[in-house]
Amino acid sequence: MSLCMVAAVHAFAQSKKQVAITIDDVPFTQWSDATPLQVKKAANEKLLQVFTAGKVPVTLFINEITLQGTEEKARIDVLAKWLENPLVTAGNHGYQHANFNTTSVDDFQQEVVKGEVITRQLLSRFKKPLKYFRFPYNATGKDSVSRFALEAFLKSKGYISTPFTIESQDYSFASRYQSELDKGATQAAEQTGRDYVAYTLKTFAYFEKVTQEQYGRPIAQIYLCHDNQLNADYMPLLLAELTKAGYDFKSLDEVMRDPVYQSTSCYTGPYGFSWLYRWEKDLKRRREMMMGQPEMDTPIEPKKN
Ligand SMILES: [Zn+2]
Repeated sequence: MSLCMVAAVHAFAQSKKQVAITIDDVPFTQWSDATPLQVKKAANEKLLQVFTAGKVPVTLFINEITLQGTEEKARIDVLAKWLENPLVTAGNHGYQHANFNTTSVDDFQQEVVKGEVITRQLLSRFKKPLKYFRFPYNATGKDSVSRFALEAFLKSKGYISTPFTIESQDYSFASRYQSELDKGATQAAEQTGRDYVAYTLKTFAYFEKVTQEQYGRPIAQIYLCHDNQLNADYMPLLLAELTKAGYDFKSLDEVMRDPVYQSTSCYTGPYGFSWLYRWEKDLKRRREMMMGQPEMDTPIEPKKN
């Protein structure tokens, strides 16, 4: 580590734990087409209200395919309502949530270009920049040739490829939660909501431990979760518990100033795991770190993020 780097790290030393909340699959990717727009709109409004009430900054990653179809104007209005809020920033999450690991570089470049049209218009209306991109499934390329090609492309378009450090499989809990709600199993759904919050807190504690081992200090974390009914209903409890655990909520811009985000990802492959693992180049150590990750109590639903 150079002297400058040491100085930068010390300058960033924090007294409180910090996290930026990021939400993928905005506004409707996590719902089926059969769900009425009113229901999806209400969930988005509820979630936005939670962040507004708590003055919590949030960054959204958008799939514009969900803005198309019937009631297009009403769909775009839902997104506009998010983006006009001063706490909200937004990034591109690919047009139709394609997996880059199974898509050619050329086709994926089209995903990026096609995925920014409406978002860019709205952001410019609200005088905000469009600079973040997040790969669907956090699939950054199946081999180094495609990975570096896309990295160069994103850079040429002015995008920052957005990492995350903590996620807690909210999409799995959300899928169980939604099917319980659909069946009218309210008590079971409430239990799932509480299980989600408890598991997320356990996951935060685990990644803080990994961070301490790797860097000898707390880093500013990035939490990844999704736009779904579960978060609309349980984000207030999650934010309250994180506050109790000592977290300050920061914007993605602020958090990305932590020098840890200058680290190079040493991982190329099919998995969508945390950047804390990707920054570790020693495979044995990486495996050790991953072995400690808390298991979910009930195995449910395949991955969707
Ligand atoms: Zn996603």
